[in-house]
Amino acid sequence: MRHARRLFLLSVIAMLGPIVPGVLWHRVDAQPATLAPHQQLLREIYQELIEINTTDSVGDSTKAAEAMAKRFLTAGFPSADVQVLAPEPRKGNVVARLRGAAARKPLLLLAHLDVVEAKREDWSVDPFKLLEQDGYFYGRGTTDDKAMAAAFVANLIRMKQEGFVPDRDLIVALTADEEGGPHNGVAWLLQNHRALIDAGLALNEGGGGALQNGRRVANSLQASEKIVQNFRLEVKNRGGHSSLPVKDNAISHLADGLSRLGQFDFPVKLDDVNRAFLERVARQYSGQLGNDIRAVAAGSRDPQVVSRVAAIGPIMNARLRTTCVATRLEGGHANNALPQTARAVVNCRVLPGESPEEIQATIVKVLANDTITVTPINRFFPSPASPLTPEILGAVEKVTAEMWPGVPVVPTMSTGATDSRLLRTAGIAAYGTSGMFGDIDDVRAHGRDERLLVRSLYEGQEYLYRLVKRLSSPP
Ligand SMILES: [Zn+2]
Repeated sequence: MRHARRLFLLSVIAMLGPIVPGVLWHRVDAQPATLAPHQQLLREIYQELIEINTTDSVGDSTKAAEAMAKRFLTAGFPSADVQVLAPEPRKGNVVARLRGAAARKPLLLLAHLDVVEAKREDWSVDPFKLLEQDGYFYGRGTTDDKAMAAAFVANLIRMKQEGFVPDRDLIVALTADEEGGPHNGVAWLLQNHRALIDAGLALNEGGGGALQNGRRVANSLQASEKIVQNFRLEVKNRGGHSSLPVKDNAISHLADGLSRLGQFDFPVKLDDVNRAFLERVARQYSGQLGNDIRAVAAGSRDPQVVSRVAAIGPIMNARLRTTCVATRLEGGHANNALPQTARAVVNCRVLPGESPEEIQATIVKVLANDTITVTPINRFFPSPASPLTPEILGAVEKVTAEMWPGVPVVPTMSTGATDSRLLRTAGIAAYGTSGMFGDIDDVRAHGRDERLLVRSLYEGQEYLYRLVKRLSSPP
């Protein structure tokens, strides 16, 4: 997941301002004394995955995929239901299926095998050796994303061994190149082996439990993601000698437009996910701000109310609207020459449902300077939000209430990206949820000494086991 985890955790905590009396908070301290067989299996799989280097540079996702395939086959899955598929030698994916009563379209359980780079010299421990120390598991991928991968494998094997017959097929897909690299496994499987992963519903990374000062404050359900669109802004000019300046100056034009864009806020637009997010976060606020958040969720666009809510923080503001910000600037070719070219890059994070054309038109209007050309840089991947149906929201709320009474479930839109966007575009509703709690003040995904609370691994396993059973048992 590209930075989404840190942003999500920060977003939930930033929103859950002053603690309202009466909300139950749960401490996280004890670890399982002895491991049950299914927990022991999980720990072995987790260690096996962490200790297979799956970085883009030198790693091998096929090796990890084959190791998991071997575990499924050893556990009795028929070879027809376990496939390792690789578009490229080191870029393998594994797909395993537990057959059910086919009363409904399958449930897809997705995790990625690849991890971002990790240099031994930057870490205080070996990133490719699982270390359990002081209540934490250390290693590259311990949070992003090998804990969910291992939990899905261990749970599917457990269900197989328990003789569980779901009312829909359960598919575990572990894929390559989510973190970058040319062979994104989800895109490739959708393109070349759609039937293997086709599903009515998918669970993926993107959501999780938020801890603050050892207390559980929220369990998130990610149901949408903003979409990245970069634009190049450019001014061309005939230039001249700098001793003879004129007002028609490439850099001045661009700066003029950019300062207007810098002051501009796109209109507030809420979809079901962000409306639900606001409604639930509002419960954590008392007084004026609580009323303001509720008002915006209910449709108020009163500029004062909106600006008070947006002022809660950049993460709240990013949930209300599309944002565009200048991230790069260059211009001129010599100190003593009038600039012939001035360029800037504007990075937009577009709300689901909005189009790049709309955003481009708004930018052109705000710049209000027709010497500035605006050109899209990257391909736009529209990604519709997944619906917050009673099926998924109800199941997540039930399991959360069972395991962590009083902890709120918060639907979220990520401002970062996951492979869920590819599933959603392909018409498969996808949700980010892991049940694994992490400390918001110490997010190490993509960073050095990445770690996961030991307790969170086993809790996440139990949470996903219960959630998958709920989503694959007759209602
Ligand atoms: Zn990830």
